[in-house]
Amino acid sequence: MAKKSQCEKCTGLCCRYFALPIETPEEKGDYDDIRWYLCHKDITVFVEDGDWYINIKNKCKHLSEKDYHCKIYDKRPRICRQYRHSDCDLVEGEYDYELHFTSDKQMEEYIKIKFDNNVTEKQKARKKKPQRSQRPQKKTRK
Ligand code: SF4
Ligand code: SF4
Repeated sequence: MAKKSQCEKCTGLCCRYFALPIETPEEKGDYDDIRWYLCHKDITVFVEDGDWYINIKNKCKHLSEKDYHCKIYDKRPRICRQYRHSDCDLVEGEYDYELHFTSDKQMEEYIKIKFDNNVTEKQKARKKKPQRSQRPQKKTRK
């Protein structure tokens, strides 16, 4: 759990983005819709515990760049009031995403592999031979 002193040293990372759940894609077209999200600047998409999220990197306008404090602390929104230090980016350091897409190109490649090649057959073949974990990426949410 983060200590308050850690917030004092921090530039307010938790006030520089927000993430929203999105529908789990099923068909090729659903993945292509996500590719469209990823065509936009400062958008990433990640999967955590099987749930899909869009991450919007966009600083809250109430975060002071002078001291990194909240300029509306006493009337900050509920989400900010309920935010737990245990969810802190700085303390956690890295997120163990199952998938993390940072560009439309990555999604394009993923769609090709998932739908245009027979992934199931390839996975079966891989299972025969033990190898290192093939988790897609480990990234911070910054
Ligand atoms: S990211 Fe963590 S350390 Fe930084 S201000 Fe937010 S809660 Fe505090
Ligand atoms: S309202 Fe304040 S606490 Fe909430 S995101 Fe903005 S700067 Fe951070």
